[in-house]
Amino acid sequence: MKIGIPKGLLYYRYSYLWKTFFDELDIEYIISPDTNKAIMDKGLGYAIDEACLSSKIYLGHVEYLIGKCDYILVPRISNYGSEGTVCTKFQAIYDIVQNTFRDRGIKLLHYNIDYKNLEIEMNAFLKMGKFLGKRKSAAMRAYYLAKQAEKTARIMDEKHQEQLLNEDKIKILLFAHDYNIFDKHIGKPIIDYLNEMGAVPIIGDLADKKSALAKSVEISDTLPWKYSKELVGSIALYRERVDGIILISSFNCGPDSLVNEIIIRRVKNKPILNLTVDGQEGSAGMETRLESFLDIIKFKKDDYRG
Ligand code: SF4
Repeated sequence: MKIGIPKGLLYYRYSYLWKTFFDELDIEYIISPDTNKAIMDKGLGYAIDEACLSSKIYLGHVEYLIGKCDYILVPRISNYGSEGTVCTKFQAIYDIVQNTFRDRGIKLLHYNIDYKNLEIEMNAFLKMGKFLGKRKSAAMRAYYLAKQAEKTARIMDEKHQEQLLNEDKIKILLFAHDYNIFDKHIGKPIIDYLNEMGAVPIIGDLADKKSALAKSVEISDTLPWKYSKELVGSIALYRERVDGIILISSFNCGPDSLVNEIIIRRVKNKPILNLTVDGQEGSAGMETRLESFLDIIKFKKDDYRG
């Protein structure tokens, strides 16, 4: 049996968990490639216009995997209990994929996360192991090893980021969902450009998630979405250690339109640039905006130093 893993949306949060779980259970898997123009165009073709760019790209990744594996992994996330809920896309994506590709003979592997109804992650993975024909003890062992791998990867990322925060260069906090900032088509060009310009990109999503969740209330205590709260908390954690903040959203994102507005109103002591990526524009416009933003920060720093 071969599982297909679309490289979009939850992949960037759970890749270590998924890959280690399948590796330990000796299940073969294939991951769709980095987003490229062909994948994005496919996704744009399948999605409705109103959908956000990130979910459109996700459909392109699913399409890439059809015919290359037996099942495609599409989890359904509803909520994380007291930590918050998620954008409706994560609740609906299983049904969207199922319906979009209903004529293509697609078979989905899924699990549900719904803490309010006691569907916790461990149980979800045990059920998935059972579906894959594995003994409960084997699935349990694979899950614990996968959690360990996930934790180790996060600690490494946090340590690396801490080193970057200590660099004596202009540091820019990138406020963006992991599936946007790490996507080769959406976030990677922005990271690359900042590096080229000698600035240090600090990734909000790599902040310690528990600390970020706790700190998020300093900026807003009413947000419902866990992933947005973690990102907002990264501003609270890092704002005194960075020179500016870039809010990066994919076009048509509902939650970001609200969250970005809250940040712009409440975070007053840092220059903020609001960038929306629609996947269609060339790089020139984006680079001009980034260059101007960096110039403003440099002028401010020079003024401050006298
Ligand atoms: S939070 Fe925004 S970008 Fe992310 S899935 Fe929801 S609508 Fe799309």
